[in-house]
Amino acid sequence: MIRYALICDAGHAFESWFRDSESFDRQVKRGQVNCPTCQSSRITKQIMAPAVATRKEEAGQPMVMPAAPDAEIRQMLRALREQIEANAEHVGPRFAEEARKIHYGETEERAIYGTTSVQEATALHEEGIEVMPIPVLPDDRN
Ligand SMILES: [Zn+2]
Repeated sequence: MIRYALICDAGHAFESWFRDSESFDRQVKRGQVNCPTCQSSRITKQIMAPAVATRKEEAGQPMVMPAAPDAEIRQMLRALREQIEANAEHVGPRFAEEARKIHYGETEERAIYGTTSVQEATALHEEGIEVMPIPVLPDDRN
């Protein structure tokens, strides 16, 4: 999995996970990547500010992120999920509702996880509530 910092044609910056750079290119071409703020499918990678090169010979070197083998990625994602499941309360589809209650102090402050729509996640984000998407493992979809 690769996380890209992306930007839409209206200038909204966001981040998204892709299997690899080819799948990013393919999904953008098909219009399957949408800005969470305005739903635009004209998405490009954000130009990253280059790191300061301390030595001359480092300048101009292409930065390559090696693709991790699938098994390694799955293990990483599984570990992340296990950590979340061990430390957060599962609230299922009530996620957005509970997140708001916590944010507005109507219930005890705690970490929660559950399911919500992209629209709800965007709305929560606009209200200043931090939410993080958890990548779904292929074998979780059964
Ligand atoms: Zn946008």
